[in-house]
Amino acid sequence: MRIDLHLHSTASDGTLTPEALVDAAASLGLVAIALTDHDSVGGVAAATRAGIERGVTVVPGVELSADVPGGDCHILGYLVDVGHAPFAAWLAARREARITRGVEIVRRVNAALRSRSGAGAPQASWESVARRADLAGGGSVGRPHVADELVAVGAVASREEAFASLLGNGMAGDVPSAKVPPAQVIAVIRDAGGVAVLAHPTYLPDFAGRLPDLVACGLGGLECLYGDYAPDVVAGLVALAGVHDLVVTGGSDFHGPSTGAGSGAIGVPLVPDSVLEALARRHGRG
Ligand code: AMP
Ligand code: ZN
Ligand code: FE
Ligand code: FE
Repeated sequence: MRIDLHLHSTASDGTLTPEALVDAAASLGLVAIALTDHDSVGGVAAATRAGIERGVTVVPGVELSADVPGGDCHILGYLVDVGHAPFAAWLAARREARITRGVEIVRRVNAALRSRSGAGAPQASWESVARRADLAGGGSVGRPHVADELVAVGAVASREEAFASLLGNGMAGDVPSAKVPPAQVIAVIRDAGGVAVLAHPTYLPDFAGRLPDLVACGLGGLECLYGDYAPDVVAGLVALAGVHDLVVTGGSDFHGPSTGAGSGAIGVPLVPDSVLEALARRHGRG
């Protein structure tokens, strides 16, 4: 039986609603999914309701960003208590910081477009980005929303092109997030009763060297099955998880059709439901 523990919805930068994700997962025969929106658990309740109707177990989750020297790393929080007030307040502050950053991203991207094409260059509107991210409804704004706006105003053809030309690492729209160390991110997840899991580990430079520190902070798992990881990469990660007594997890990082993120399809790669059992056992251990 198959599951997918890494999915984004319209509660952050995915293009499908939580209900639509559950529908799609059910149609594919998945027995469980985790919703892992950036800095938000706003979609979990709706997904859980839809999951009860469609017979899909919905694992409450979240994806948080932490600063490491030379970049950032993403840490997933699973089986968090979405009603934990300090956790909710912390997430709300992170979404506020995303708004400040989003305004700056739009300013910088517009300047880059003008310097490229002159006064008549297409320009992104922050108000429109805010609507795309549903900020009025408590959404979590990120670069993908700016990417969608750049597509809408005709500056680029796709989310992928927006990242390749304006928003990717080191480009005009790559505005750093407010600095939060991994130790704080892991502590916040654990305080909310969750298990902290390092997402797409290979994106983190020298992840193997950094792992002992993260484990000392309370990291509980490693996302070994991810996107298009080749079998030898997966095997290496699973071995590393064994060395550090970390639970093995996996998911697609699906953000919607044709978004250029993750594997591009719900349920890919194939993750067996034994992964969720192991995660639940780790959760029980505290
Ligand atoms: P942010 O949270 O604002 O830093 O934006 C990061 C998000 O952008 C990631 O979680 C992905 O969803 C998305 N992303 C990053 N790189 C790409 C890319 N090359 N194509 C499409 N989406 C991307
Ligand atoms: Zn994302
Ligand atoms: Fe991520
Ligand atoms: Fe993700």
